[in-house]
Amino acid sequence: MKYIDEFQNPDLARRLLDTIHATVTRPWALMEVCGGQTHSIIRHGIDQLLPEEIELIHGPGCPVCVTPLEMIDKALEVASRPGVIFCSFGDMLRVPGTDRDLFQVRAAGGDVRVVYSPLDALRIAQENPEAQVVFFGIGFETTAPPNAMAVYQARRLGVRNFSLLVSHVRVPPAIEALMTSPQCRVDAFLAAGHVCSVMGTQEYPDLAATHRVPIVVTGFEPLDILEGVRRAVTQLERGEHTVDNAYPRAVRAEGNPAARDMLADVFEVTDRAWRGIGVIPDSGWRLSGRYREFDAEHRFQVGAITTTEPAACRSGEVLQGLLKPHECEAFGTTCTPRTPLGATMVSSEGACAAYYLYRRLGGTPTPTTAEATHVG
Ligand code: SF4
Repeated sequence: MKYIDEFQNPDLARRLLDTIHATVTRPWALMEVCGGQTHSIIRHGIDQLLPEEIELIHGPGCPVCVTPLEMIDKALEVASRPGVIFCSFGDMLRVPGTDRDLFQVRAAGGDVRVVYSPLDALRIAQENPEAQVVFFGIGFETTAPPNAMAVYQARRLGVRNFSLLVSHVRVPPAIEALMTSPQCRVDAFLAAGHVCSVMGTQEYPDLAATHRVPIVVTGFEPLDILEGVRRAVTQLERGEHTVDNAYPRAVRAEGNPAARDMLADVFEVTDRAWRGIGVIPDSGWRLSGRYREFDAEHRFQVGAITTTEPAACRSGEVLQGLLKPHECEAFGTTCTPRTPLGATMVSSEGACAAYYLYRRLGGTPTPTTAEATHVG
């Protein structure tokens, strides 16, 4: 296949579905790791086409959603400082902190800018030497390499007024934490294809063997997801638990060596808090010693900020696959994309936003078109 719409071919989808229906003999719970996969599943109704024995549970792989509240509060504090130009991807501006969001900081006079690349923020720093320019570096192994590149270039070019507020997270420790949780009911993982395009598949065989769980590297189009499900169910029915790459058009076993080298140079592994989940050991990156001077948390002395997450938001349970979004009491009532209580309703990759956008409302009012399109 050559073009992206071929990966949405209904005849091929029906054939894959027939194979899955013929293969499954008992209930299985599969977790798709990435929020992009969740959106594709809900948008195309894939979960409703699968045999009723197969449950897809939505994993924690939404970068905006897992960024902890205290990191949002740190961003708000830094962005409010005089002389700071705070740069971020657009999704983060609407994520609620404890008492406001970045849009409100901008409305109050803060210089908060949406950029499309961390290198844009670096350019802004070069053009505004009198200002402190901060880029909000969040996300998984996918967004970390360009952020690492921006810091690498800042150091190489001597751009001292640039810094990174770092909240990067890594997938394998999250899988480990999920599998060792007493509440875990995941039988197999659909691993995030774009993460593996950077990191390769070498981090997964130990996890698959230790926890006897199939891990199938899966893409994002409907046929990608159905093929990932087919391979995972086939392994489960056979009692196998290996790593299988169902996304070879993007993923090689070794990943992207240049990106991995950049990550290894600029970042070092650290414990990281995940929103609603808590601290997972070794689950994140921070700037390594050679680049510590570019760490905004140190530069602006905001490391001590701590916060308590609101009890009304159950995104932690959603992110662990313990709760479907429409089972949250606030879903579609006090929490909508216009009035989000948690990041999973804000982010374009959030499971709550996906359920709201694609009308998985569980009996709550149907959103207006304006609300439904007001996501991300
Ligand atoms: S519906 Fe809103 S309050 Fe409930 S878990 Fe999702 S984001 Fe949190």
